[in-house]
Amino acid sequence: MPQFVLQPDLDLGAIAPRPMCAEGNLSYSASRAGWVEVLVDCPGAQGVYTYRIPEEITIQPGDILSVPFGGQQVGGVAIQVTAALTEALDAAVVRDVEDVVCRGFFSPTYWALLHQVADYYCTPLMQVVRVALPPGLLGRSQRRIRLRPDAIPPGAEEFLQTAARQILERLRGQKQGDYTWNYLQRNVRGAKRGLQDLLQRGWVESYLEPPSRVRPKQQLAVTLVDSAAALSPRQQEVVDVLRRHGGDLWLQDLLQLCCTSSSVVRAIAAKGAVILHHREVLRADLAPVPPDIPKSLTVAQAEAVQAIAALEGPHQVLLHGVTGSGKTEVYLQAIAPILQQGKSALVLVPEIGLTPQLTDRFLARFGGRVRVYHSALSDGERYDTWRQMLQATPQVVIGTRSAIFAPLPQLGLIVLDEEHDSSFKQDQPAPCYHARTVAQWRAAQAQCPLILGTATPALDTWITHHPAANLPPLPPQPLRPLNLTLPDRIHARPLPPIRVIDMRQELQAGNRSIFSRSLQQALGQLRQKRQQGILFMHRRGHSTFVSCRSCGYVMECPHCDVSLTYHHTQAETVPYLRCHYCGYGRSHPDQCPDCGSPYLKHFGSGTQRVAQELLRQFPDLRILRYDSDTTRTKGSHRALLSRFAQGEADVLVGTQMLTKGIDVPQVTLVGIVAADGLLHLADYRAGERAFQIMTQVAGRAGRGAEPGQVLVQTYSPQHPVIEAVQSQKDAGFLATELAQRQALRYPPFSQIVLLRLSSPDAAEVRQTAEALAASLQTRIQADQLDCELLGPAPAAILRVARRYRWHLLLKCPAGSAQSLAARLELAQLRSRCPAVVSLTLDVDPLNLL
Ligand code: ADP
Ligand code: ZN
Ligand code: ZN
Repeated sequence: MPQFVLQPDLDLGAIAPRPMCAEGNLSYSASRAGWVEVLVDCPGAQGVYTYRIPEEITIQPGDILSVPFGGQQVGGVAIQVTAALTEALDAAVVRDVEDVVCRGFFSPTYWALLHQVADYYCTPLMQVVRVALPPGLLGRSQRRIRLRPDAIPPGAEEFLQTAARQILERLRGQKQGDYTWNYLQRNVRGAKRGLQDLLQRGWVESYLEPPSRVRPKQQLAVTLVDSAAALSPRQQEVVDVLRRHGGDLWLQDLLQLCCTSSSVVRAIAAKGAVILHHREVLRADLAPVPPDIPKSLTVAQAEAVQAIAALEGPHQVLLHGVTGSGKTEVYLQAIAPILQQGKSALVLVPEIGLTPQLTDRFLARFGGRVRVYHSALSDGERYDTWRQMLQATPQVVIGTRSAIFAPLPQLGLIVLDEEHDSSFKQDQPAPCYHARTVAQWRAAQAQCPLILGTATPALDTWITHHPAANLPPLPPQPLRPLNLTLPDRIHARPLPPIRVIDMRQELQAGNRSIFSRSLQQALGQLRQKRQQGILFMHRRGHSTFVSCRSCGYVMECPHCDVSLTYHHTQAETVPYLRCHYCGYGRSHPDQCPDCGSPYLKHFGSGTQRVAQELLRQFPDLRILRYDSDTTRTKGSHRALLSRFAQGEADVLVGTQMLTKGIDVPQVTLVGIVAADGLLHLADYRAGERAFQIMTQVAGRAGRGAEPGQVLVQTYSPQHPVIEAVQSQKDAGFLATELAQRQALRYPPFSQIVLLRLSSPDAAEVRQTAEALAASLQTRIQADQLDCELLGPAPAAILRVARRYRWHLLLKCPAGSAQSLAARLELAQLRSRCPAVVSLTLDVDPLNLL
């Protein structure tokens, strides 16, 4: 039976830094007696409860405890030891910890990391624990006791008290020398003291056993069998798809691949061409992938791999490689020696849409040592994976944002692929952490390298790696920087040329379609050339700036240098424009303030509209939509992408998801349907983000033998971002952006803390925002704090899910947010809000909308 390995030596050698967040009477160090906050985690109840520590027990944060909960004994993790009880609790009703089941289950460094996150992001520790640990971690496991026969001297029982001797006898009477703690407690009087004695002598050990799989999960599978059955064309199609996938698939996968219903498959089964049968699904099961061997590296790749292998101590490596330059192969070959040294690697990817292809490449190389961990897994899958991750065996964990909390005891390398991607930042719920920031802390703790891979570095990353003499210095970084570049595509394939198409001229020429004449021509040729295309729309819906279709003028805030947001909440109200930084508002103009044209347009065409338009103009083209509407169900990313990769569609129409590492060699055409939707977001990062997204989408073209081309449609062809995308040179663009940020005092030259307030009560939330602003302002002035308070302003989308949202924004010098938060007591502000108003603190927000 596999066991929950509880090694007492689990990474305990490292010294934990004292967490900075110890408040008042809280103490982090081990203590005798006192109180302990325990995370009780059983199905249906997850929360922190306080228990008394009995005299004879010593408890440290991270220990696994056995505690009474309702009528049962359950497992829990010690979170914090406190010397005094909170006033709200009555000592008479607080129950005792029963025992320590296991010490050092989580290393002290792991708890220090959680404290650091809680502290930096002004979030209660419990909320960090919730993100980090999988639900139901402990409740499902059972405590067991087993003999350590080698440690027991002959005649040992003579020294023992009755209870201890009885336990020993019972254990010896059992074949494996092993019983559940529950059983021993029921059968031996005073079992607890007896056990303590035996544990102290080291004659028995205590461990957690994973829950048995009560009912293995069963699922229907379809297997192809040879037969001469006469099939209808549709049935034959389904059988062909099954054959192409190796003749064996889960029924639900086959249905998804073929867009058909189970009755069709049952009809085929009735004719004897396939059989349907139940089979056990292994949870967290990864489909086997044929193994591959390390590729022989290009010179640039080899240099990168060597440089990483030579690193000692914590470093931050920026692996800056153009799209298709083979970054993944560098990760793979950097990880191989780490595994050989007996350590593990953590690979973070932005979104699950990207993982199928990437995961397959890791599986092909490292096989069973690969685990996938992300929030789309079921609770059971997350639990299973978590258990595996706790083991000291070398492994590679691939996951999204929250996998940065994977409890790998021997971490040797962390990789963030597409490090610029904003999905590494959590917007809500709290903690609003950035996985890259947490990764930096973890790498510093584990003394290991952090690799940030990207074709389009985030400005924040860029500047730590390219400090410019003419810009102010930034606060010290936790890791030493190293720059590595992969300047060329594999096989010296050229980057696709990028053509910018001026949509104003299309309008003048009488073309009112959302596709320019050039794009129409390119789309029209796809089928005959047997090539594929990708069309990119930046969002599904809700894109909200207003621009002039005649001259390209964009309505902007006179104070803030961001575009104004179009509001039209109800049919009977007049549309108006608003700035979401400062609250400035104005009515929607009837004509362009610049050229007087009446053709003002708010942009908002989504993927659905593009797909409809495509169908109307090109009825022959086979289309797939790839956005969050079409990829809701589990496995649908993989299914959609593999359908496209196998040529089941000519055009893939999608959103941001397209930017994530799709590597389909037949794609020669990429069309960015409306670049303007990206350029004028009401956000100081709009330029940076637009550049990254367009460069990444463009990078999907021409990855195979056929050269690619990229068409960018825009009403602002002279926009500096468009020019930078077209010239495919990022250094110049990044320098300009940095200069602008500096001039406007935006990050990385300042730090921002966003206070998001929301409530179903429109008046209450506004008043609370105003009251908080007033009190913060008073404090700032009285203490002469070096910071600026902006707002309150209504959020870009004022009402979301029936809640009204208001924002306050604090802007302070880079590196000072944490001390400012302490001075302003931001973490305590929540308690000053009325119950109907909720407040989230977002430190270093990426999304200001
Ligand atoms: P990136 O992540 O930089 O966009 P990828 O890692 O996806 O690039 O690599 C692009 C393609 O080149 C992939 O199909 C990959 O298998 C292939 N490739 C990578 N390195 C090599 C190499 N050294 N030799 C041959 N093919 C390679
Ligand atoms: Zn403004
Ligand atoms: Zn105009």
